[in-house]
Amino acid sequence: CGIVGYVGKSHVKDAKDIILDGLKKLEYRGYDSAGVALNIGHKLEVRKHVGRIANLEQLMEGEVLKSNIGIGHTRWATHGAPSDLNAHPHCNGDGSIAVVHNGIIENYVEIKEWLINEHGVQFASETDTEVIAHLIGLYYDGDLEDAVFKAVGRMRGAYAIGVVAAAEPDKIVAVRKDAPLIAGLGEGCNFIASDIPALLKHVRKIYLIENNEMLVVTADQVKIYNDQRQEVKREVFHVTWDA
Ligand code: GLU
Repeated sequence: CGIVGYVGKSHVKDAKDIILDGLKKLEYRGYDSAGVALNIGHKLEVRKHVGRIANLEQLMEGEVLKSNIGIGHTRWATHGAPSDLNAHPHCNGDGSIAVVHNGIIENYVEIKEWLINEHGVQFASETDTEVIAHLIGLYYDGDLEDAVFKAVGRMRGAYAIGVVAAAEPDKIVAVRKDAPLIAGLGEGCNFIASDIPALLKHVRKIYLIENNEMLVVTADQVKIYNDQRQEVKREVFHVTWDA
C-alpha cells in the first residue's frame, strides 16, 4: 500500500536507509508486509518479509547493502496471502527486473496464462503483481522505459508501479494509473513515493503525477511522459507544511 524509490549520485545518500525510513512514514496507509530491491554492482538485491518494517530491518541487520538506487514497498494483500514470497518487490525469472506495485491488475490471469503457456514462465508468488515483472522482463532489451511502456499497454486495472533493472543502475521507471504517485526533487538525487510524508525529510519540491503518466527518474532529473510517450512539463509543487 506504499511505494518509495530513491536514486542518487553515489556519494549523496544511502538508498536503503532512505527507503526504509520513507516506508515507515507511509505506515499510516496500512500494510501486512514490506520489501526492498537495491541495485548493487549491476545486481538486484531483494529483501522482503511479512509483518512490520522492523521485521524487514531485522532480516537485513548486519548486511552491508550500500547502494545509490532502490525501490521499496509496503503491501496490503489483494491477491495472495500475506507472506514472505508474496511480499514485493517481485522479479522476473533471472532477477534482472524488480517491480513494486500498489493496486490491482484486473487481467492478470489472462497475462499469467499467456506467460506460462507461450513463454514457459515459472511463477514464484500468488500475486497479480508478478505478471508485471515477467512482462517487463520479456520486453526488455536494454531499454527499461521501452519495456515498461510495452508492458503497461497490456495491463488493465489500477496501479502505481516502480521498476528497476539490474543493467541500468541509474534509473527508476514509474507509472501511475488510478493509484497515487509523486516524484520528489532533490540535490543530486530524486525520489518517487505514494505520498508526500514519505519524502518530507529530504525534499520540498514535488511533482504531482497524473493518471497514465510515466516517470523516468535519474539522479539528475525527473522526466514525465504522457501515454503517447510525449514529454510533459509539470510545475513544481512546493510543500510548505511539516510532516
Ligand atoms: N495487488 C497487489 C498484491 O496483492 C498489490 C497490493 C498493494 O497495493 O499493496 O500483492
